[in-house]
Amino acid sequence: MEKCSFCGREKKDTDLLISGAKCHICNYCVEQANIIINEEVKKKTTLKKTDLKKIPKPSEIKDFLDKYVIGQDCAKKVMAVAVYNHYKRISQQKTNDEVEIEKSNIVMVGETGTGKTLLARTIAKFLNVPFAIVDATVLTEAGYVGEDVESILTRLLMVADYNVKSAEMGIVFIDELDKIARKSDNPSITRDVSGEGVQQGLLKLLEGSVVNVPPQGGRKHPEQKMIAVDTTNILFICGGAFDGIEKKIGQRLNTKLIGFDATKKRDFVNKDNLLQYINPLDLKSFGLIPEIIGRLPILTHLNPLEKETLRRILTEPKNSIIKQYIKLFEYDGIALSFDEDVYDFIVDKAIEFKLGARGLRAICESIMLDLMFDLPSKKEKTVNITLELAIEKAERLNFSNLKVA
Ligand code: ADP
Repeated sequence: MEKCSFCGREKKDTDLLISGAKCHICNYCVEQANIIINEEVKKKTTLKKTDLKKIPKPSEIKDFLDKYVIGQDCAKKVMAVAVYNHYKRISQQKTNDEVEIEKSNIVMVGETGTGKTLLARTIAKFLNVPFAIVDATVLTEAGYVGEDVESILTRLLMVADYNVKSAEMGIVFIDELDKIARKSDNPSITRDVSGEGVQQGLLKLLEGSVVNVPPQGGRKHPEQKMIAVDTTNILFICGGAFDGIEKKIGQRLNTKLIGFDATKKRDFVNKDNLLQYINPLDLKSFGLIPEIIGRLPILTHLNPLEKETLRRILTEPKNSIIKQYIKLFEYDGIALSFDEDVYDFIVDKAIEFKLGARGLRAICESIMLDLMFDLPSKKEKTVNITLELAIEKAERLNFSNLKVA
């Protein structure tokens, strides 16, 4: 009787029994083998991809970022160098060199929608390491309602399919770092559990230590089996809008001029973009504790998006919104094109309603909705979006709903 040579199932108990020279294999064992192969290949590639000799040079990292992120040259350069040094540092630990290079965790300061998450995500994509995004606003000090800081690592573990080794080489993006700023300078009787308390909790993660992580997230409880994760080689990138920090930067730049230096010629200060002068002192006056600032040594800023940049964001990135629509229509065999002035219209609307880059998609969506609904069932094979059509379709969009508060 024909049987699977691996599991012993008889032919009648299988859906398919494949015969080899002197053996047979059933469909169940093929599926099982496939899972094993995939897991092994994944393990090997994650290790291979983080092979430190192959870490790309900063200029290569920046070239890759250029394909996805428009403008923001300063931030891109800083990130490229920081990531490069981070991986150099990891390789150094293996050689046991004497001079120890410190961890290069990064803070990005910039208005919402200027590309902070995009930058971090693109870097992770390039390096092919696990990447997790967490929101600092949900965190609270251990013991209080909310998530413990360790849950940050739970996300990373999940993304890495619980492969601890691979997670330990990953990148974590902590968004809304500004929201855990100390609530006030005065020590008060109520504990600042979602502000300073969280900052204190983050310290040990940022500097690198072995942390016990609840595999399913949430609160730690005694019965839950913990996974030990070493954060030494995890790169933390933090982002935040730090609303109002320009005022602090302005104050600092002004006070510098008092005293003996006051007679010196004033350096030119571009008041429209004070963020470019940001330094760690400003983060401190905003409410980050010095210990946190010390563990986030790389500080960079993102510029507000101007009309020209928005216009480029619409069409230039490798997966720009417009390219995505063209691809979507291509699936239905329809050639989609846009008149140039449609782009200007979309950008102007996004600026008018202060929607930033995020608004571009919402406006495009309202212009394209009817077409996406109707065209697949029609015979037309080409569509051109003219300015008139765009204005007509965009009219029904309720911009007031989209307005950022
Ligand atoms: P932030 O994290 O700063 O709030 P995001 O990175 O999430 O902003 O950006 C929101 C969206 O806007 C992104 O999905 C991206 O499509 C677009 N975007 C923002 N800035 C840029 C940029 N400089 N280049 C390309 N796209 C951008």
